[in-house]
Amino acid sequence: MFNKLIQWVLDIFAGPNSKSNNSMMNIILFGPPGSGKGTQASSIVEKYNLLHISTGDLFRYEIGNSTELGLLAKSYMNKGELVPDDVTIGMLKNKVDANPDVAGYIFDGFPRNVYQSEALDRILDEKGQTVNVLLQLDVDDEEIVKRILNRGKTSGRSDDNDESIIRNRISIFNDETAPVYNYYEKLEKSVRINGIGSLEDIFDRLTAAIDATK
Ligand code: AMP
Repeated sequence: MFNKLIQWVLDIFAGPNSKSNNSMMNIILFGPPGSGKGTQASSIVEKYNLLHISTGDLFRYEIGNSTELGLLAKSYMNKGELVPDDVTIGMLKNKVDANPDVAGYIFDGFPRNVYQSEALDRILDEKGQTVNVLLQLDVDDEEIVKRILNRGKTSGRSDDNDESIIRNRISIFNDETAPVYNYYEKLEKSVRINGIGSLEDIFDRLTAAIDATK
């Protein structure tokens, strides 16, 4: 509350051309692969008019266009490993910089380690922005494997069709990505959401958490 008051006073003195846009809502939709981030992000962007940035989708777009970046990303994605940080962060920054006039961003699949979290904070800070909330969708490992194998029947993603690759993605999440939750928890920005239930129920839980941060 006190921080909000200070930001409000700073915004008034900074004037209308200030790079600070305190009304932006920047959300990290977080959780293991197959926890429903992509599906829920599509509904959330509609309700709040945000830009959905999925690093996985950006990589798949590059692969589809057979670019150099796509070829590089594919060699990691096929094994369920993380694409190197410098490549991923550069691509994410380009996307954010190319879309400055939005009500906010919803990050899906990024950040995937603490180094990426620090980079995201810097990218947003340059714009006078910050991450408002991290929403973690909690889904247990066996349910995830089931969901991804099911998705693999129609997604056309090779990393969705092989159980050992799926389990590798889950263990990378547990080892490297889960600490991102603690990173934002220290800043009192992390919220856990039960990711089991109907799409509508999960959406309601997410929007209640978003509205509580306003
Ligand atoms: P996703 O669509 O989020 O499940 O991502 C699919 C794959 O893209 C991951 O298994 C990684 O190989 C790669 N990827 C997506 N986002 C990132 C990221 N932030 N850092 C590194 N690799 C990523």
